[in-house]
Amino acid sequence: MKQVTTVEELRQLVGGARRTGQSVALVPTMGYLHAGHCTLMQQAKNENAFVVASIFVNPLQFGAGEDFAVYPRDLERDAAAAAASGVDVLFTPTVEEMYPQGYENMKTLVTVSGVSEGLCGASRPGHFQGVATVVSKLFHLVQPDRAYFGQKDAQQVAVIRQMVRDLNWPVEIIAVPIVREADGLALSSRNVYLSQEERTAALVLSRALQKAKTVLQAGERRGAVVEAAAKEELAQEALAAVEYVKLVDAATMQPVSELQGPAVLALAVRIGKTRLIDNLLWEEC
Ligand code: AMP
Repeated sequence: MKQVTTVEELRQLVGGARRTGQSVALVPTMGYLHAGHCTLMQQAKNENAFVVASIFVNPLQFGAGEDFAVYPRDLERDAAAAAASGVDVLFTPTVEEMYPQGYENMKTLVTVSGVSEGLCGASRPGHFQGVATVVSKLFHLVQPDRAYFGQKDAQQVAVIRQMVRDLNWPVEIIAVPIVREADGLALSSRNVYLSQEERTAALVLSRALQKAKTVLQAGERRGAVVEAAAKEELAQEALAAVEYVKLVDAATMQPVSELQGPAVLALAVRIGKTRLIDNLLWEEC
C-alpha cells in the first residue's frame, strides 16, 4: 500500500492503474477506522483491481460547536488497518491540500436539495453540502468506477446517489450493510466518546430498531405506528434524548405515511453529549 498526502501523487498513482486497464474503487472515510470501514475496503478490493481509500476529517461538513477539533484520529493504526484490508493507495491530505484557499473561502459548493433537507440535514445545516462538496472533489480526483459507502449513513447514501444521477457521474454507488458489535451497537468512530454507562445505554438504538422490525414483520405499514414502536423503546432509556425517529423513503428521504417501497427507519439520539445515528433498511413490501 502507498500512502500519499498530495493531489498530485494521488492523480499519478490512479492514472497509472487506469492506464493498465484496472477498475478503480474509492472508499471515502474520516478515519479512526473500525470493522465497518474495513468491510467497505474489503468489499471494494473483492470487486475492483485497484482500491483508493481516503482519510480526511472534512471541516466543511462540521457545524460550529460540533466535534471537528476533537474528532478521534490515529493515522498510524489506520494505515495498518487499510493495508490489511487490501487498500492500494491511502490518501491522507491535510486541510490545506484539499482547500488551498481555505475551506471558508470555497466558492463552489454542491447542494443536493430535497433529499438532504430532513433528518440530519435539518439538525446539521450545511452538513450534506460539506459532504457532497468533498465527495465531488474526491470523485474528480480519483474518477472511480465504484464508490463504497456505509448504509449506516443512509441519508448520505441517498444524497450521493441523487448527486451522481443529477450530474451524470459514471460511478456506481455501492451501499454496504451496517456492521454492528455483537450486542447490536452500530460501529462508529464516535463510540469512543461513550462512557461505560453510556455505552450500555446506547444499545437502546438497536433495540428500538428491532422493536420496529417486529412490528413491520407483523404486517404493519403505517409510518406513525412503526415510529411509535421505536419511540416507545427509546423512552425506556433515561440517558437517551431523541432527536428524530422517522420512517422515510429510502431514495428520497421523504416521510412515509403508508409503506409502499423500500424505506428506512432512521434514528438520531443523543446519549449524554454523544450524538448517535442508526437505521433499519426495510425492502420488503
Ligand atoms: P466515516 O469515517 O464515519 O465518515 O465513515 C466512512 C464510511 O464508512 C461511510 O460511508 C460510513 O457510512 C461507513 N461506515 C461507518 N460506520 C459503519 C458501520 N458501522 N457499518 C458500515 N459502514 C459504516
